[in-house]
Amino acid sequence: MINKDYIEGKDWTLFLDRDGTINKRVEDYVTTWDRFTFIEGVLEAISACSSFFGKIIIVTNQQGIGKELMTHDQVNDIHEKMLEVIEYYGGRIDAIYYEPSLAIYEAFGRKPNPGMAYFAKRDFPSIQFKKSIMVGDTLSDMQFGKAVGMKTCWIKNKWEMKNYDSISEFTDYEIEHLKELVLKIKSV
Ligand SMILES: [Mg+2]
Repeated sequence: MINKDYIEGKDWTLFLDRDGTINKRVEDYVTTWDRFTFIEGVLEAISACSSFFGKIIIVTNQQGIGKELMTHDQVNDIHEKMLEVIEYYGGRIDAIYYEPSLAIYEAFGRKPNPGMAYFAKRDFPSIQFKKSIMVGDTLSDMQFGKAVGMKTCWIKNKWEMKNYDSISEFTDYEIEHLKELVLKIKSV
């Protein structure tokens, strides 16, 4: 289904979750750059994805702000440094959207709700959800993608196995690591 001929043409968009997809999960929140650790091989994978996808967008829930455990400035600082490293490795991120509100408010901009997808479409009208892939490690990532008709790709992990039945309902592809997406794209 995903293959190079299918994806190329730059009209496809890759939506990426952040925590657990790009960087390793921590027990609470990644509040500062020294707590941000790239998952091995992710930088190379983003770099490879940059040549297949017209746009690469990060969408991330950051309710640590709502809990007052960190500030917008801290999150922006982390993202600035993250982008520097991604670009050093030849990768490209076109935009980052984060939602600071607490989960209990179920904000439109907080996954599983699709707000951040619409914000991206507002800023980049060429984005087509039918030609988009959402990659993430949780059920809410898969629900977010499916809410607007994207293809969804779940990064398997032990923490989310409790939700496996629901996840499989919303998931088109299961992978172990973002680099597997690159292999899937390359294979016909
Ligand atoms: Mg995540």
